[in-house]
Amino acid sequence: MTTWLVTGGAGYIGAHVVRAFLDEGITPVVIDNLSSGHAEFIPDGVAFVEGDITDTALVEQILTEHRCDGVMHIAGFKYAGVSVERPLHTYTQNVTGTVSMLEAMARAGVERYVFSSSASVYGTPDVDLVTEDQPLHPESPYGETKLIGEWLAADQVRARPSLRAVCLRYFNVVGSATDEVYDSSPHNLFPIVIEALLDGRTPRINGDDYHTPDGTCVRDYVHVGDLAISHVAAAKALMDGRDLLPAYNLGSGEGLSVRQIMDAMAANTDHDFTPTIGPRRAGDPDRIVANGDLAARDLDWTMRWDVDQMVRSAWSARIAHRS
Ligand code: UDP
Repeated sequence: MTTWLVTGGAGYIGAHVVRAFLDEGITPVVIDNLSSGHAEFIPDGVAFVEGDITDTALVEQILTEHRCDGVMHIAGFKYAGVSVERPLHTYTQNVTGTVSMLEAMARAGVERYVFSSSASVYGTPDVDLVTEDQPLHPESPYGETKLIGEWLAADQVRARPSLRAVCLRYFNVVGSATDEVYDSSPHNLFPIVIEALLDGRTPRINGDDYHTPDGTCVRDYVHVGDLAISHVAAAKALMDGRDLLPAYNLGSGEGLSVRQIMDAMAANTDHDFTPTIGPRRAGDPDRIVANGDLAARDLDWTMRWDVDQMVRSAWSARIAHRS
């Protein structure tokens, strides 16, 4: 039996990865401190420890008890904007937490590691399509901690040659592959728009004077179900001893503007609306879109869901949890 620890497995992305593991006959074990996750996102029958990844002894114990073959390290504090006000909290969760994970893995002799990184390691890239070899210039404490997380993985691979690791750089992750799990982030476009519609408020575009075709910011939206499949592909590649690069973009190669997302929201929810235009949000770059060709080659990465399905699935999962 193959078993992987999923840190942050009660969160929006982690709970999708847990299901993708189950679909492939791999046993997931979850550790989550429930700071932003939900215990009910974890499927029945999956072992769950409520605890913090900074507790090295606890993680070591879980890895040993469950004879884990690898660690999918997804837990972290993921709000770039908030990280500016809370740098120490962000560093504790994302850097101290990652050091603790790698230490526990070394003590328990676990040799496979997939790390959730982020587009934020690139900062504001000066290219139309970001490739993995672009310079890394994070612009928030959050982005810095993700870059340090990548360095930690690389340094630990050098120090422990039996360790095999890969970092996955997420772009704008949206949608749901199951109505059991939805994105409850208070800081991202999809959940903010959906909450506004459910509350009877009109969604707002943060600025329409950017240097983009329709004046609103362009981002690379990817479906969480596709993302989860590539995580499992990464885990399998590491277990099979296949050669992987240190880091991959999980990006679609296609940009969508905020206005296009708003149009898709109006078309695919039962709420027709015209968004209001507000001021720019501090720190928003005009455009970030990634090339995902390397992940397509090595990690079964492909866009199985289009933007309408992204919106419909996000909406449907949120409605399913409406109290
Ligand atoms: N955005 C918006 N209205 C909102 C929330 C977000 O126009 O109510 C914009 C935001 O300013 C950014 C884009 O949507 O241009 C994506 O924002 P998100 O926070 O989801 O992702 P990120 O900033 O990490 O790309």
